[in-house]
Amino acid sequence: MELLAQRIRNLSESETLAMTRKSREMKERGIDVINLSIGEPDFNTPEEIKEAAKKAIDENKTHYPPVAGYPELKKAIAAKLKRDNDLDYTPDQIVVSAGAKHTIANTIICLVEPGDEVIIPAPYWVSYKEIIKLARGKSVIINTTADTDFKMTPEQLKAAITPKTKALIFSSPCNPTGSVYSKDELFAIAKVVAEHKNMFILSDEIYELINFECKHESIAQFDFIKDQVVTINGVSKGFAMTGWRLGYMAAPVWLAKACDKLQGQMTSATCSISQYAAMEAMRTDPKKSLPVRDMVFTFRKRRKLVLEVLKTISGIKTNMPKGAFYFFPDVSWYYGKKNEDKVIENASDLSMYLLEEAHVAVVPGDAFGNPDCIRISYAASIELLIEALNRIKKALAKLN
Ligand code: PMP
Ligand code: GLU
Repeated sequence: MELLAQRIRNLSESETLAMTRKSREMKERGIDVINLSIGEPDFNTPEEIKEAAKKAIDENKTHYPPVAGYPELKKAIAAKLKRDNDLDYTPDQIVVSAGAKHTIANTIICLVEPGDEVIIPAPYWVSYKEIIKLARGKSVIINTTADTDFKMTPEQLKAAITPKTKALIFSSPCNPTGSVYSKDELFAIAKVVAEHKNMFILSDEIYELINFECKHESIAQFDFIKDQVVTINGVSKGFAMTGWRLGYMAAPVWLAKACDKLQGQMTSATCSISQYAAMEAMRTDPKKSLPVRDMVFTFRKRRKLVLEVLKTISGIKTNMPKGAFYFFPDVSWYYGKKNEDKVIENASDLSMYLLEEAHVAVVPGDAFGNPDCIRISYAASIELLIEALNRIKKALAKLN
C-alpha cells in the first residue's frame, strides 16, 4: 500500500461501481440482490448499431484508428451536433475517447494546473471530484437544494468564482438528481462565465436523450461563450452502449489538439469496432429511432411508478426528476433510527442496511455531495422495481 503513489492512495473508489461490485459479489454467493446502484440502461444496443459493428469486423476494421477517432466518425458527430443541438463544430474540434468518463478526464488533465479551482454544483456525478483530485486541482462545491430543483443559481456561481477558477463542470440532465437546465437558466450561467475569459464550462450532456419534459439545451449554443465551452457526450446512455466505451468532446481546436496529444500517449484511440458502431448511432436521428423512443417511453413509465411507490413510504422526500433515470430522495428522517443492533447514522449506513436487510443495492448520497439522500436507479424492469421498492419499504418500516 505504501508503495503506491500518493495520488492513487488519495483517490476514492467510484461509489457507483463499488456498490455494483458488492451486489455482484453477493449474487455470486447465491443471494438474490436487486441492483439499483448502477447507472446503465437495461436495454440492448439497437440492432442496426450491432450490425454496423459486425460489418466492421468482417471488413477487418481492426487496425489502430487515428488517435482522436476516424474522420468519418468525427464528421458524423459534427453532423449530429448540428442536427440535434444546432451547434456548429468542425471535425478538428472533436476528440473521440473511451467513454465520456475518459473525455472528462482528458479535459481536466489538459486544463487544470495544481491548485486551480473547479466549480461543481452538488449533487454531482461521483467521478468529477476524483478526476480533479488526480489533476491536483481543488473542487469548489456549490450546494443546491430541492427548493431550486437542485440547480445552481447564477448568483451562487458568481459568488464561487475566484481568480483561481479554471472551470465549471455539471451535467444536464443531471446524474443523480435528474434536474434539467432550461435555455434561460443556461443563458444566465453563460453570462456569468463570459465575464471570466480564462474559465471553461465542461458541459456533460451524456443524458441528453433521457429527458422527459423539455427540449435538451446545450450551453455552447450561445456564441458569446462557445470558445469557453467543452461539450461532452457519448453513446452509453442514449443508445444503451455502456460496454462499447465511446464518448466524445467538442471544444476549441487548441484544446481538442491537446486532448489528442494526451490520448496519444496514454490510451490511443478507442476500439475501432466501437467507432463503427458509434457512426451508426450518430447517423440515427433519435427523434425517429424506434429503439431510442421505446427506451425513453419505458423509462418514463417506470419514473411514474417509482414516484408513486416512494410517496407511500414514510420519511422519504423526493422531487420529480425531469431526466436521466435516477431518483435522489432525501432519507435523513431515518438517521438515528435502528433495527435491533443496526443503527442508521447516515446515507452509507442506510445503503448498507438496504443491501443487507432488503438485498437491494442503492448508492449513498455522500458520493454525489449530498449526505441526506440516496440514489435509486430505475434502469430495471417494472417487476424488479416493484419487488425492490417493496423490499425497501419493508426494511425501512423495521427502523424505529
Ligand atoms: N457523466 C455522467 C453524468 C455519467 O452518469 C456517466 C456514467 N456513465 C458518465 C459521464 C460517463 O459515461 P461513459 O464513460 O459510459 O460514457
Ligand atoms: N455513470 C454511471 C453511474 O453513475 C455508471 C457508473 C460509473 O461509471 O460510475 O452509475
